Amino acid sequence: MNTCGFIDAAVRESIDAIGEALDKNGKVVVTGCLGVKEETIRDVHPSVLAITGPHDTAAVMSAVHAHLPKPHDPYTDLVPPQGIKLTPAHYAYLKISEGCNHRCTFCIIPSMRGDLVSRPIGEVMQEAENLVKGGVKELLVISQDTSAYGVDVKYRTGFWNGKPVKTKMTELCKALGQLGVWVRLHYVYPYPHVDEVIPLMAEGKILPYLDVPFQHASPRILRLMKRPASAEKVLERIRAWRAICPDITLRSTFIVGFPGETEEEFSLLLQFLEEAQLDRVGCFAYSPVEGAAANELPGAVPEEAKEDRRRRFMEKQGAISSAKLKSRVGKTLAVLVDEPGVGRSQGDAPEIDGTVRFRGGKAGELRQIVIDRADQHDLYGRLQ
Ligand code: SF4
Repeated sequence: MNTCGFIDAAVRESIDAIGEALDKNGKVVVTGCLGVKEETIRDVHPSVLAITGPHDTAAVMSAVHAHLPKPHDPYTDLVPPQGIKLTPAHYAYLKISEGCNHRCTFCIIPSMRGDLVSRPIGEVMQEAENLVKGGVKELLVISQDTSAYGVDVKYRTGFWNGKPVKTKMTELCKALGQLGVWVRLHYVYPYPHVDEVIPLMAEGKILPYLDVPFQHASPRILRLMKRPASAEKVLERIRAWRAICPDITLRSTFIVGFPGETEEEFSLLLQFLEEAQLDRVGCFAYSPVEGAAANELPGAVPEEAKEDRRRRFMEKQGAISSAKLKSRVGKTLAVLVDEPGVGRSQGDAPEIDGTVRFRGGKAGELRQIVIDRADQHDLYGRLQ
């Protein structure tokens, strides 16, 4: 039902028309200008299936498909229902949004991709479900800023399997947690509501794994980078996350040699690493991307100093990672097999983290591996 919300009379007419349509067949999806005033419609007609704003064909179609799934016809549909993907059959990336509302001074993504545009949650869940039906055992949730999911659409309510679900990271995690596969979160900007997903990890609904790009620990450098987090609060939050979910694996990335970074500020970062005891860490020496605002900042750090800081950073983190992996020796871990003899534990994302090595197994199998030994990046063990 298309609607108009321009003047009061048009609103009344639209509301009446929705009522007539509901009386006729009981299944109504509302779109158009009045759709932005969701409460006005729901107050009178709480049973409408979905409400979208104007110019949102994708959301309308996803609501229609959610309530009236199109049967797959193998004779006419060239693309299988789970879509075509380039990753191995047993894991897949699930992109939930495009673009970003932040303006970190070292990054040009917003100028290329624009502001955040979240995919309708019904569409994301449908894709996830199709992937699982197609044999995927692990979903990797990605975007430029996963925790901002739904901000642009004011956490609009969508539909999955006929049930209302909000376009919000926590709701998405709860819904994905029902699919019975590994769900791994990437690029989670450390907003306060991230704390809400930690209990889901502790309950085993989604993987106890969080990829949070902290970037630095010095308050002044974080301000120059236009990142909101403060290192002290971050440490407090990490402690709280671990208290709720002791097995959580924390991955992060950092930039060293940002313009103006002093030796003291770099030392602060090393101290933060020591206290945070993160499990997996990537470190980049600052590189001036054309068009990034940070290039205008004074105090460019010489290349040699940047490299030296990167080396010292990795040395420190190397020791932390090794100790963390050693603590797993003697334990039995669930491992998703990527190829015979190589798999990943719940704490290892494909391509960027370590692996678990053992004899046997077939791609896509979930096996229990007894860990015998560890080095700085990988674990070694045997099938239970
Ligand atoms: S670094 Fe990430 S959060 Fe910051 S502007 Fe770029 S994409 Fe957005």
